[in-house]
Parts: sequence; C-alpha cells; structure tokens
Amino acid sequence: MRLTQLYAPTLRETPADAEVISHQLMLRAGMIRKAAGGVYSYLPLAWRTLRKIETIVREEMDNKGGQELLMPIMQPAELWLETGRWHVYGDEMFRLKDRHQRDFCLGPTHEEMITTLVRADVRSYRQLPLMLYQIQNKYRDEIRPRFGLMRGREFIMKDLYSFDRDEAGLEESYNKMYDAYTRIFSRCGLKFRAVEADAGAIGGSGTHEFMVIADSGEAAIVYCEQCDFAANVEKAELKPIESPEETLLPLELKDTPGAKTIHEITAFLQISREKTIKALAYKTDKGPVLALVRGDHELNDIKLQNQLGCLTLELADEKAVGAEFDSIAGFLGPIGINKDVMIVADTTVMNLFNAVCGANQLDKHWLNVNPNRDFKAAIVADIRLIQESDPCPRCGASLLTARGIEVGQVFKLFTKYSTALKATYLDDNGKEKPMVMGCYGVGVSRTMAAAIEQNYDENGIIWPAAIAPYTIAVIPISHKDAAQMEAAVKIYEELNKNGIETVLDDRNERPGVKFKDADLIGYPLRITVGPKAINENLVEVKVRRNGQVIHYTIEEYLQAVKELLKTL
Ligand code: ATP
Ligand code: MG
Repeated sequence: MRLTQLYAPTLRETPADAEVISHQLMLRAGMIRKAAGGVYSYLPLAWRTLRKIETIVREEMDNKGGQELLMPIMQPAELWLETGRWHVYGDEMFRLKDRHQRDFCLGPTHEEMITTLVRADVRSYRQLPLMLYQIQNKYRDEIRPRFGLMRGREFIMKDLYSFDRDEAGLEESYNKMYDAYTRIFSRCGLKFRAVEADAGAIGGSGTHEFMVIADSGEAAIVYCEQCDFAANVEKAELKPIESPEETLLPLELKDTPGAKTIHEITAFLQISREKTIKALAYKTDKGPVLALVRGDHELNDIKLQNQLGCLTLELADEKAVGAEFDSIAGFLGPIGINKDVMIVADTTVMNLFNAVCGANQLDKHWLNVNPNRDFKAAIVADIRLIQESDPCPRCGASLLTARGIEVGQVFKLFTKYSTALKATYLDDNGKEKPMVMGCYGVGVSRTMAAAIEQNYDENGIIWPAAIAPYTIAVIPISHKDAAQMEAAVKIYEELNKNGIETVLDDRNERPGVKFKDADLIGYPLRITVGPKAINENLVEVKVRRNGQVIHYTIEEYLQAVKELLKTL
C-alpha cells in the first residue's frame, strides 16, 4: 500500500472526549471514527488488525475442533422468555419491534439462539460433542459506554458454545478452550494472565477470565509469583486468619465520644485495627443485612451477594440505619441490632478475642466482644476482599496485585440453558439427558484496544508484529529524489513479495512528518531510504518498540528484517 492512497486520516491533536489511551491513539492514527456513543466505524488500518486477530482466533478454534457458523443478530423475544432472561437482562438489552408489534432484541449473547438451534436437530449421543462458534457483532446498551472500543455498545465477539454428553466431556471441552485462549493471546503478542473468576449465579469453579495486564484495566487481579495462582479480586478465596488465644473478658459498654471510624476508634482506645470489627449495613431484596469484617479488612460485596443469593445489594443510608437496623451510622455492631437484620460475618471475625465493635447507640462501643459468645451470625463465610501481600491460598507466598483488561472468558454453563430450553439427547441406554454446555467468548475489538493499552509510548502505538495493520513502513527521505524513490520502491516491492506487509510513504511530506506518522500508527519496523542508500548502499532499520537503529546493506537487509520480526 502506498500512503498517498491509504485512507487513514491522522489527527495532530488528541480529541477531547477520548478518555483512554487506546481510544485517543486509534482516533489520532485514523483507525476509527465514532458514529454514536460506543458505536464506531473501523477504518482500513483498524479493520486489518481486527481481521488478523480474527484469523488467529479462527485458526485456534478450528484446531480444537470448533466449527464456524453465523447466527442472526436479530433474535425473537420468545427465546429469551423461555429462559426468563428477557426480563433479567434489563436495560442492557437493545429491544425493537417489527411492524406487527412483535418483540425482538439485538443479540447481547447467543446462548438462547444456539441452544434452540441445536435442540432441534441433535437427538442422539452419537451427535455429541459439538463445538460451534461465530465471530460477529454483539449489542449491549452499557450504562457507561466509555473508553472507546474497550466498552462498546456494538462490538465484535467470538463466541463458541460446547455441547457434551456429560460433565467429563464438558471438562475436556473447557480445557481445550482454555488452551486455545492461551495460544490466541500469546500469538497476539500480549502479556496476559488467566484468572479464576466469579461464576455468579451458576456457581462452581467453572470460569476463568483472560486478562491483558495494563494499568488502565478495569479489573483488579491478584497473582502469585511462586505458583500459578491468579484470580480476579472479586473472586479470590481467602483462608481465615487465626488470632492468638486470650482469656474471655466480660463485655463492657464504653463511651467513645465522636469516634465513628475504625481510625478514630483505634486512636481513641489505643488499640490496633486487628482488634476491631467493622460493620456495614446493606439493603437487599432479602431484607436488611449487617456484614462484619475485621477492622483492617475490606468487604467483598460480590462474595457477600453470592452468600446471600440476593439480586440487589446496596449500602443502607443513615435513615435506613435508624429505621431498619435500630442503630446509628458510625456505631453499627452485631450486639443489640434489630432482630430482623441478618448478620453475615467473615470467618476471620469469628476468630477474634476481646474485640471492639459499635454498640448501636450514639458515642458508645462494646469492649471485649467475643463473637462466638456474644452474638449469633446467620452466615459465617469468606466475605473479605483480598489485598496485596495476603498469603497465596495455594502456596502461602505473598500475593501481588495488577490491573487487567478482560479480553476473554471461558465458562462452564453445565445444564443451565439445556434444562431451561429442554435441549436433551438420548444416551447409549436410550435415556433422555440434558446436554452439558460451556460458553467461551473473546472480545475481538476489545483485544485490539487492549493491545494498545499495553503497548504504546508518548509517540503512539507499538503494535506486536502479529497484529500490526502493516509490519513495515518504507520511508524515502526525499520524495523528489528519483534515485531514492527507486531504491525505496524496490525494497517496498521486495518485502511485499516476501509476504511482509509493507507500506511505502510516497507522500510529498517532510521526513519529520513521515516519521511522526509512522510512530503514531506504530509499524513494528521502519526502513529509511536516504542519501546513504545511494552513496553507501545502506538502509536504516528502526525498531519501533525500543528505538534501536541498525544499518544494513541493501543485499542483507531482507534476511535481517525477517530475523528481527521473529522477536517482535
Ligand atoms: P464486562 O465484565 O467487561 O462487561 P462481560 O463479562 O459482560 O464483560 P462476556 O459476556 O464474558 O463479557 O463477553 C465475552 C467477552 O466480550 C469479554 O471477555 C470481553 O472481552 C468482550 N466484551 C464484553 N462486553 C464488551 C463491550 N461492551 N465492549 C467490548 N467488548 C466487550
Ligand atoms: Mg466476562
């Protein structure tokens, strides 16, 4: 491609409404343009990168026995009414009506569609297992469609669904997909981790998220450098901490004027935070809940929600704390709380001796609280948020934290959808059984954005070679110098002939402008053809990632570039 012909309208200024770096750089590099919030056109450079990611995804899916198909984006409401998700999905679903007032949605995902497809034609165990996938637009009316392609309302996803005879089969399909995902993101040249994630309503140990490591990531993850443990902090399980044993002292009501926070109470009583109990009041669809964690710990509300099995969970305001908990904000505690309140305690709290907690009265705390003696918790469970330097639940080493962008997720669905939609088969004894399912998604457009979030500098994008829109930019210093142009064209044509996707910057621009654009678009290599090429037979190769400059003769550059590219 000659740059005089390429449609990549670059911008000098950073657009004001672009918050994250990938969004800014893709706009500036002329890769995308916004049509509406969270809806974008992909211009030729972006489309090339997307197709490369898709090709990698396709090859890895096919390698594991996946078969590609294409399902409709427009889905009738009936499918979703059968599983009950028409109502559960809420405002995130784009809905529309046809001329006969029949309800449809734009597919946010395709479990309903694929399960009804398969149930109609698969009858026998002989037709299983099956792995079917598609690469297609998905539609989700996200509350905050910010961050460009990272959180679009229309975005490209690969979704594969596995159908097996039994759980052992599902395990096999799941492992195949886990392995395929590991290969996909490695081949894309990304630093990533597969983390144990929260399975939500389905529960069980059946899901991993693939996270591209980047400071701008929305997800917090913990990982261990001593073993391969890694988890989303939302999910990371924690072992309870024991406290050194003490003689139980009698409860004592203590005046603590103005001491509302853990910080204030520990300063007032001259005790450590490990000796206090933090109480948080929540309103849920299952009634009022008081959650307890140790004073130096944070509550994980996803774990709490999973324990309660509730749909809604929100912190109670001061008014509700008075009316529904019979307490006062800042002095909440389990002893003497309204008896309709359900107490959920973190396991570590129950191991405390002679601790301090709020007394549900203004300016008063209880001293010498011994949980097993002094109050009853309806649920005792792990509900705390993991923190950096907590011990690894597998090997005990100190954990590290990082931020991640979720680019893929593998999920064991078991029989959730096959039961709801009656997708059954006859086993080898002629017995009817529900198919055992899994679903596996890759955010193709998000992967492109995540690649940039992980690979950029102040000058622009630094593409991993495998997914760069073009691999090399050949830049003649002077467009007017016929000898230079001729040498540049020769190199450009030779590279393309060798299967290395190369552009030629044949624009009538100053070299500085060409270099700036090349850095912005992020070609992994730049080859400059200047006077040295004519006088000394030398071209200059510059590596975008580390700025390294190497001179090669015109005879040796091709082989050298091929070697270099293997490392990028
Ligand atoms: P998130 O928690 O980020 O909203 P999700 O868990 O709802 O994502 P899945 O249903 O697991 O997403 O979809 C599979 C993949 O699709 C995700 O791993 C992600 O890479 C991608 N994806 C999901 N939502 C979006 C979006 N709004 N824009 C771009 N990609 C998305
Ligand atoms: Mg997900």
